Parts: sequence; structure tokens; C-alpha cells
Amino acid sequence: MIDLEKRAHEKYGLPLAALDDSDAYTMLMEIVREKAQSLPDTEGKRRLYYISAEFLIGKLLTNNLINLGIYNEVKEQLYHAGHDLNKVEECEVEPSLGNGGLGRLAACFLDSIATLGLPGDGVGLNYHFGLFHQKFRDNQQTELPDEWLHEQGWLVDTGKSYTVPFGGFSVTSKLYDIDVLGYGRKTKNHLHLFDLTSVDESLVSADSIDFDKTALKKNLTLFLYPDDSDDQGRILRVYQEYFMVSNAAQLIIEEALERGSDLHDLDEYAVVQINDTHPTMVIPELIRLLVDEHGIDFDEAVSIVRKMVAYTNHTILAEALEKWPLSFLRTVSPRIADIIEKLDYAEKEKDADPAVAIIQNDIVHMAHIDIHYGFSINGVAALHTKILEESELKPFYKLYPEKFSNKTNGITFRRWIMGCNPALTSLLDETLGTEWHTTGDLSGLMEYKDDPEMLEKIGDAKEIAKRSMRAFIKQNRGIDIPRNAIVDVQIKRIHEYKRQQMLALYLIWKYLDIKNGNIPARPITVIFGGKAAPAYVIAQDIIHLILTLSQWIAADPDVSPYLQVIMVENYNVTAAEKLIPAADISEQISLASKEASGTSNMKLMLNGAVTLCTMDGANVEIADLVGPENIYTFGASSEEVVRLYAENAYRPHGLYLRPGTKLLVDFITNPKFMATGNPERLKRLHDDMANKDWFMALLDLEEYIQVKERMYVDYEDRSSWLKKSLVNTAMAGKFSSDRTIKQYNDEIWHLD
Ligand SMILES: *Cc1c(COP(=O)(O)O)cnc(C)c1O
Repeated sequence: MIDLEKRAHEKYGLPLAALDDSDAYTMLMEIVREKAQSLPDTEGKRRLYYISAEFLIGKLLTNNLINLGIYNEVKEQLYHAGHDLNKVEECEVEPSLGNGGLGRLAACFLDSIATLGLPGDGVGLNYHFGLFHQKFRDNQQTELPDEWLHEQGWLVDTGKSYTVPFGGFSVTSKLYDIDVLGYGRKTKNHLHLFDLTSVDESLVSADSIDFDKTALKKNLTLFLYPDDSDDQGRILRVYQEYFMVSNAAQLIIEEALERGSDLHDLDEYAVVQINDTHPTMVIPELIRLLVDEHGIDFDEAVSIVRKMVAYTNHTILAEALEKWPLSFLRTVSPRIADIIEKLDYAEKEKDADPAVAIIQNDIVHMAHIDIHYGFSINGVAALHTKILEESELKPFYKLYPEKFSNKTNGITFRRWIMGCNPALTSLLDETLGTEWHTTGDLSGLMEYKDDPEMLEKIGDAKEIAKRSMRAFIKQNRGIDIPRNAIVDVQIKRIHEYKRQQMLALYLIWKYLDIKNGNIPARPITVIFGGKAAPAYVIAQDIIHLILTLSQWIAADPDVSPYLQVIMVENYNVTAAEKLIPAADISEQISLASKEASGTSNMKLMLNGAVTLCTMDGANVEIADLVGPENIYTFGASSEEVVRLYAENAYRPHGLYLRPGTKLLVDFITNPKFMATGNPERLKRLHDDMANKDWFMALLDLEEYIQVKERMYVDYEDRSSWLKKSLVNTAMAGKFSSDRTIKQYNDEIWHLD
């Protein structure tokens, strides 16, 4: 079917064997692009628009080859010509259009929407320099522009363009698409990425992410989440958001008209999923366009829009729930500010409870617009939805109980096992057939949980994944990992609520324990990966602590043979795909109630890592599925944590003063250790942990250390550990994003 040899001759005038990896990559990408372009769009009267500030899509070549059903064929033809597809794919630059779990969720959803054959597209922005490229210098994070856009990429110029009117000026957009293929499907969807015709990359230099925040006609699509520590940066974010949703709304209306809508029935042609609050202004923007451009009466426009927008909440962290001064919105778009005031007024007429007001003291609560004017609001794990209903959004739940539902997050199995873990995938295919690729059902594996031969095969697959992970770490950090090490990973954005600092305190404990002569049964390798927001000082301090500890331990010959701490540089989807298949232990140690769902917990479980966790987010559902003997849980319950906050009753200093804890926290500021790092950062982090500890690491620390130690001991019983690993893979089916998307469609979108 595919003849790479012929293609190599046509394109380069060379035999396939003579191409270098980079030319082979370009050729393959073009083949996939052509195949995708030739597929018709998925059709249906009602179309979904999944609007999101982020799409963390990862490299696309392997995923697209898998979804086209030609992965093995291509791999073999390359192999016979002396090429390795993995090496070829290394030539691809990972798109930098996302940040963390929220963006990765959007990417998994696009894969599942296409795989289920549903007509649904993503809508976002084409950030030229992404979030940032993380580099470590002097054991600290530095941020560089992530130059991911190259001539030869996946973007398709659609020729579409819209005018976006801001207060006092307007800009012109330009729409690029990335084709989205479903597994085994003969139609395609799109990721629509809007850009600015007047964007100016020369505002950015190669060595810094600073730029002129006031040059709005040139800067709107330079970076995802530009620094918001000053008002200029904050207003810029509002400009970006309005640019995104005005384009989205214009596209939605144009496509509905093309499909025969008269706009009075727009809700029959389009449904919008608002991913977190960044796209909230699509609500007033749709109303604006219906009223100002299409002559529909205001009240009717409101009732149309009410029937077509749904909102997903992703966090209960107050600082992450967007609130903008009304004056900012008025600067960006006076008309949108007027419409929001009208919407606010109408709601205040209906309900006197100030807690549910959209505008409070001239501050606009974006989530409140979504809840009042959307027809659906969902949380992303059972526990998270319960917390929304019973505490965070309780007054709204009382008003609109019928709007609330849970949609536990999921991950696409095409990328998170078939794409990244070939050894385990082959084993599962041999054992279960290939139906699980689309059903997600791996439960048939449970039959083999006491089969020693199967357990050994599971162990062998892990070894193969570890080998390729070790090569990745060598390349990324220049560090060698012992072959027999237990691999323990915490890979996710750096945030106090995720509590990387608690794992760092454990590592200090373990370092001292080994110094005292307690040698572990085998080497322990702890791997961190994650970026910190540039303006988030404590998160930067945590990175510094981890990197300094890493260096300190590596330099101590008493300890370094037994304990290794590695922080991967520039953690992204590509790194995740190397680390996740190789992990033995999955660290999911957020403060209970704070991690809405988590998805790396699901990816790691699927790949046979055993979870060490608090009862937070989707960890609760994992624990339910695998049973207590196949997971390690610890820590205060979410109820306890919610109570401590409500009563302002958490007192870390008393916990700090416990001798065992004080020893660990004070290690950070012991003069020798400080001398190897940045004293200002270490002192600040120490004082924060000893006195503030807002995310209660000290509350759970003792139990965490105990449970973690038990886990390392249990690992030494090989067959019982492999059984846990098998059960985790076998029970991961619930977390296929195909299941999640079926639920969104059955209960919210109703696409036919
Ligand atoms: C899955 C994923 C995340 C989300 O991880 P959480 O532990 O759920 O926060 C973040 N970044 C990347 C690159 C991922 O693949």
C-alpha cells in the first residue's frame, strides 16, 4: 500500500536506505499529511467546538501512523532500509501549545472524539513560542522561548481569516488547522489554531521570554500564559482570550450558516465546551455577534447561547479561578463589558445571593458567567464534583442542581500505551487480542494474575521500557541509572499543592537514613519532571531544592550508589512517553481535595506502575478499582483538609517542631547545604515550610515516609509486586478517554 522506497526516489532521488533520519521524517510527515488531507471531514448536523487555551498534543507522527493503521507497515519498510522509526521521530519538534494536564486532556479528547467518529473540533491559539523551554542553570530554572514552529510542520493554512474588534483598534486573524485523525476512522476532525496576521516574532530574543507587552497588534500569539505579575500582562491575557473566542464564535456561526442554520436554531448546529474559564467570553461574544451582526433580539440571543455552551471546571484553587476587573474587559472590548453587565444585572434581578453574582465590587467572576449562562457544568473526577457541589460551588448547585454532573477524566490509550510502550502493548495484544485498543477493556488480564509466566512477561516489558528510559535520561541529563534500580517518579507541573516539596523532605530523610548505615535492598532512582510558572517564586525554590539535593547526593559516595535524584529538563509529552512506561512507582501525593483529577496517575497505572497516593482526585477511583492490596494510600482525608481550611485551624509550626520533622526541614538551611545552593531561595523555602506550609506537607509527612518505606520493601517480593503491576494495568480501562467522551456525548453534547 505504502511504498517508501518509491517515495524516496521521487522526493530525493535516493534509495530509502540513503536518507538521513531528518529527510525520512520529512517524507513520512508529508505522506501522513497527504493522507489526512484526502480524508473527508466528519459530518453531522450538530458540531462540537472544544475551546481551550491549551492543547498539549505531543509529537504527531507516531500517533497519526497508528491512527491511520500503517504504523507497523512503515516501521518495517524503514527497518529493512536500515532506519529506526523511533530515531526518525526524534527529528520531530514537539508542538508547544500547552502547559500541563488541562492541555493534555484537551489533546486526549480530540483523539477520542475523532476515534468515536463524532464531529468535533478543537479551537485554540497558535503560540509561536509556546509556554517556554525550560533550562537549568546553577540548579535553577531559566525560561527560553520554545521555538517549535518550523517550515515543515503539521499546520495547514486554511485561508480563513476574521476581523477581531478591540476597543480602539482591530486585528486580522489567520486560521491554521492541524488535522485530527481517529483510530481506524475514514474521516477527520480539526484542531483550529488562530494566529495574528500582524504577529511579530522579532519582539522576542532567543535568550529570554520578555517582550513588549503593550505591542498588542504584534504580540497576541507569541506566548501561552504570558507573565501576569503586572497589570500590563494581565490585560494582555484578556486580549488573548478575547482574540481566541471572537475567532471561535465567528467560525462557529459561519460554519452553522454553511450547514443551513438560520441562527435562530444555532444550538441545533453547534455546542461549545468551555475548557476551564479562559474561553468564557465566548458567551458574550456569541451574543454580540447574533445581536449586532445578525439582527437577533438580545433576549433571544441569550436564550440561544444558553442552550449551546457547557463548562468544565478544573480546579478549586482560588488563585486559579479567573477574576478580571471590569475595567480590563472594558478596555479590551467595551461591547463585551456592556453585555456582561447586562447578564449580571439580569441574574441579580433573579437572585439576591451576592455569592452567585457575576460582578462583585467591579470584579468579574468568569466561572459565574459560565454557570449561569451555560446549560452544563461538570467536574473532572467523582471527588472533585462532590466538592464542587457540596462546598466550592454550593450556592450554584442549590440554584441549578440539574446542570451539574461528573465526567471523570481519561487518557487516550493510542498514545499512552500503544504509542509509548510497544513491549507491553505486544504482550497485551498476544494475550487479549486487539479489541482493547478501542474498548479500553483490559480486564481479561485478571485471569493471569497468578500465572508466574505472565508475571515474568510483565516484568520483562518493564525492563525493556527501563532500557529506553535510561537512554533518554542519559541524553537529557547525562546521568547513568543503575540497571536494577527501582524507578519512582513524580512528573507534573511544579506546584505547592502537588507537594514535590514533601517528596524532597522524604529524600532528605532517606539520605540521612542511608548515611546512618541503613542500606536499601537495591538502588532507588527518584525522577522529577515539571515546569514552574516563571512568576511563581516558591515553585522555583522547590525546583532549586530538588536540583541542589540531586547534586548533593550524587557527590556523596556513601549514599550515591543507593539513592539517586534526577530532575528531567524541559518535561513535556515526549519525556512523559519515555518515563511513564518505565516507572515502578507513581507519586500522586497532592493535598487531598486539591488535585481535581490528575491524569498522569491514569497513564502510570495503565503502564503498570503502582500508585503511592493521597485520597485525592481520580486516585480515589483508582483505589476503588484495584483494591487496597494494589495501591498505597496515606494522608489526611479531603473532608479533614476542607475542615482545616474552613476553620483556619492548620498550625504547621507545631508539626515542624517535632524532632524528626525539624531535622529534615532544617537540613535545607544547614550551612554546608546552603553553600552549595542559593541561600536566599533555600531560606525562603525553609521558612515557608516551617511557618506557612499552606498545602500541609508537614501534616502528611510522617505517614508518607512510613508508607513509602513499606512500598520499597514490598517491591523486593517480585512476584507479588508484578501481580500488583498486572492488576493496575488490567483495571485501567475505566480511564480510557473514549469512555469519558462517550459520557460527554451521551449526557451533554448529543451529537448524532
Ligand atoms: C499527563 C501530563 C500532565 C498531567 O499530569 P498530572 O499529574 O495529572 O498533573 C502534565 N504534563 C504532561 C506532559 C503530561 O503528559
